[in-house]
Amino acid sequence: MTTKPGERALRFAIIGAGMSGILAAIKLTEAGFTDYTVYEKADRLGGTWRENTYPGISCDVPSHLYSYSFALTPDWSSRYSPGAEINAYFERVAHDHGLEPHLRFGEEITRCEFVNGRWHLETGSGERDEVDVVIAATGVLHHPNIPDIEGLDRFKGATFHSSRWDHDVGIDGARVGVIGTGSTAVQIVGAIVDRVGHLSLFQRTAQWVVQQENPPYGDEDKAEFRRQPALLTDLHSDLSRQFGVFARAVVDADSPEMKMLEEVCRANLEDTVRDPELRERLRPNYRAACKRLVVSPNFYEAIQHPNAELVTDGIERVEPNGVRTRDGRLHELDVLVLATGFKADAFMRPMGVVGDDGVTLERAWANRPSAYLSITIPGFPNFFMLNGPNGPVGNFSLIEVAELQFAYILQLVERLRVGEFTEISASPGALESFEDARLEAAKKTIWMTGCRSWYLDDRGVPAVWPWPFERFRAEMREPKLEDFETR
Ligand code: NAP
Repeated sequence: MTTKPGERALRFAIIGAGMSGILAAIKLTEAGFTDYTVYEKADRLGGTWRENTYPGISCDVPSHLYSYSFALTPDWSSRYSPGAEINAYFERVAHDHGLEPHLRFGEEITRCEFVNGRWHLETGSGERDEVDVVIAATGVLHHPNIPDIEGLDRFKGATFHSSRWDHDVGIDGARVGVIGTGSTAVQIVGAIVDRVGHLSLFQRTAQWVVQQENPPYGDEDKAEFRRQPALLTDLHSDLSRQFGVFARAVVDADSPEMKMLEEVCRANLEDTVRDPELRERLRPNYRAACKRLVVSPNFYEAIQHPNAELVTDGIERVEPNGVRTRDGRLHELDVLVLATGFKADAFMRPMGVVGDDGVTLERAWANRPSAYLSITIPGFPNFFMLNGPNGPVGNFSLIEVAELQFAYILQLVERLRVGEFTEISASPGALESFEDARLEAAKKTIWMTGCRSWYLDDRGVPAVWPWPFERFRAEMREPKLEDFETR
């Protein structure tokens, strides 16, 4: 980039080459910032879509919404396209925007320290970099949660976490156990039930499930999208509006929309599960959408398949030959899949981050992660997060969230470029007010109506955005500079 007189030539590090890191790189380039490196610890881009390759993986946000608004595509194969297709989409968009020269694969940032107005970075291989601005695009559901179950390490068969699927392990005709009943497990069960010899689904907590068909897009549909690209933009906006309705409903547990959604879930259970005993074991004892809602075209059908068994007796321990439940029964298995979720409060950790005056992220987040508007942390100047703590996650398009966040960040960065200030981070007071308001609003949400979920922090308070999406959109429109400390 050619810098105009009086402007600062800024260097950036983007950490992570997943959906939001790619977005940041594209948007920086468009804004004329070309001095940046995207550090990625893996050997390919794609983030969650690179890591999760389990059978049945797809995104339950419609593909025409789960797309960058500036790179809509007529080519999606179905309403909820499979994971590999989504990963290929990110690879294609990154390539089309010429990002390759900026991507550094196999380099994990292990430390970021703010010294004399710049961020000093270190990678696992000992490389160093010095930048003005850090964009942490490290993802939310990234660190596997490995359950602390006695004997897990003594299992003689194959075992792996859902996000580390071992494709060398044959499942056809095998006795497969799946622990967990979240969105991941439900997709896996639907995809493998008719391939395995026997499937044991270990359910600790039942889930409400919304039935969603997944129609394919035919050649005609795709040709029509190609002929009239405005259809794609309209579809993207319509879907975004529909998700806005859902987003409004979940933050008001008493809303009529919430009640309607509960009815839909209940009807799905009543109408689809034929055996009354199984139906009761699948019936949650909390309200729909309290946990992240599970969307599936076929879960109830799959669990009624002759190969499938729903196990609701608690797990006592894992033994060399299988899983022993508390009723004393040994469920003999060849493969044990841990669809047990993620450590949702890790964010960019274990990366060591040291901000102004030597304050560490560990100290700043000693109680729990928090960030002003999910983007900036007091004492960590020029360090911005995409999809950081307390943002809108869940049944939303995280792409839309990241696009809004990055447009906001760019406005701050512009001010750094023109020299309005050299350092900026949220003020402690602004974070405190945001936290107070967030905790108050959280009380009304469906997430606090009595269930355990990854949305909740150690106090049982939802760690996610507790207001309608419109409020998020409005907050992201323009930074309130009075909420920041600058130098
Ligand atoms: P999850 O929703 O956190 O579910 C983890 C499951 O493992 C739960 O059923 C949990 O039971 C169970 N579990 C954890 N520890 C256990 C233990 N020690 N013993 C027995 N059961 C245990 O994880 P996930 O299914 O991977 O999904 C995480 C999130 O990823 C989703 O909520 C969603 O946001 C996202 N996701 C999205 C899609 C998509 O299509 N967009 C697909 C997959 C995932 P409890 O319920 O009792 O805790």
